[in-house]
Amino acid sequence: MKHNITLIPGDGIGPEITEDTVKVVEATGVDINWDIVNAGAEVYEREGTVLPQSVIDSLKKNKVGIKGPITTPVGTGFRSVNVMMRKLFNLYACVRPCKSYPGVRSKYSDIDLVIVRENTEDLYAGIEFECGKNETAELIDFIKDKKDIQVRKDSGISIKPISIGACENIIRFAFEYAVKNNRKKVTCVHKANIMKYSDGLFLKVFKEIAPEYNEIESEDRIVDNMCMQLVQKPKLYDVMVLPNLYGDILSDLAAGLIGGLGVAPGGNIGKEIALFEPTHGSAPKYKGENKVNPIAMMLSAVLMLRHIEEDRCADLLESAIAQNIKEGKFVTYDMKPSRDDLTAVGTSEVADAVVEKIKLLKV
Ligand code: NAD
Repeated sequence: MKHNITLIPGDGIGPEITEDTVKVVEATGVDINWDIVNAGAEVYEREGTVLPQSVIDSLKKNKVGIKGPITTPVGTGFRSVNVMMRKLFNLYACVRPCKSYPGVRSKYSDIDLVIVRENTEDLYAGIEFECGKNETAELIDFIKDKKDIQVRKDSGISIKPISIGACENIIRFAFEYAVKNNRKKVTCVHKANIMKYSDGLFLKVFKEIAPEYNEIESEDRIVDNMCMQLVQKPKLYDVMVLPNLYGDILSDLAAGLIGGLGVAPGGNIGKEIALFEPTHGSAPKYKGENKVNPIAMMLSAVLMLRHIEEDRCADLLESAIAQNIKEGKFVTYDMKPSRDDLTAVGTSEVADAVVEKIKLLKV
């Protein structure tokens, strides 16, 4: 069956890892028509928009996409295209499996965690009040009036909305994922002891929904404790469900357990549309250097192939990547014992090696 898939190369290192990912996906024999469109900082310079209509139309039509990372300049009015797309298409679940592949250099082995991050609200809602603006002063007066709390007048303010509806969606998603993928436990991560009406609501909804899935164990952890637990005893955990910001932070922590951002894949999934992407960003300093690791993006393609029910091609690609990591010969600098290891290969050489492995696995 032919699949139409939206392909967004992105910024920085995005185009090179995307090109190599297409190469290895095609080597599996899956029949894909790539609908190539682009979004991000570099498109903005040419077209005056970070998210052209062509990208929106393509995803609406194809329902499935894969993207490279997109740059969001820090501390400017430039909104994150990633956040915009997640909200626009209601890609409410960000799924990030963090699995150890033998051969990866890490202090840990046999890690098999899944982060399920809420993607549409929390401090990522973009409700921001800039320090010194009239509207910010009005909000500070409103808080004094309603809550009798004096926020300093020289403050900037970010608002953290958490709704029952979004909590229900993500928590059900986490349990359904656990059932479908033969997982044993879902851990709810929060800071409900401090943020009683936002994280408290997340925890309340979790406790209401958990009994519906009595075959899956459920528990909760406060986010700071969870960080320590993951470093000390990561094998105690299985699927974790988190509000947006904690999900973002713990995704990188979990990526650190399995060998770094270079091997951490992800998918943003909604009821209609799914968009797969690595956990890492656009690493602009490495742009065009054929240096960074394409494996996180390739593993995101494995998730995409499973999503479109091309399991045989997904297994083939994942096995080829795993074999390549295990042999450790054709891997980038971040997978070597030292960052300046002269035996490290470039991005495209990793792709060539994975293609060769796929060919061998096919015969
Ligand atoms: P980053 O993930 O780009 O880089 C963090 C570190 O990880 C860097 O030291 C980089 O060298 C290394 N790294 C990242 N990807 C790697 C790879 N494939 N192989 C080897 N090493 C890799 O994070 P950052 O520097 O905080 O962000 C850069 C830009 O990316 C920012 O504009 C940020 O907003 C954006 N970003 C985008 C996404 C996305 O598109 N989903 C996600 C995160 C960050």
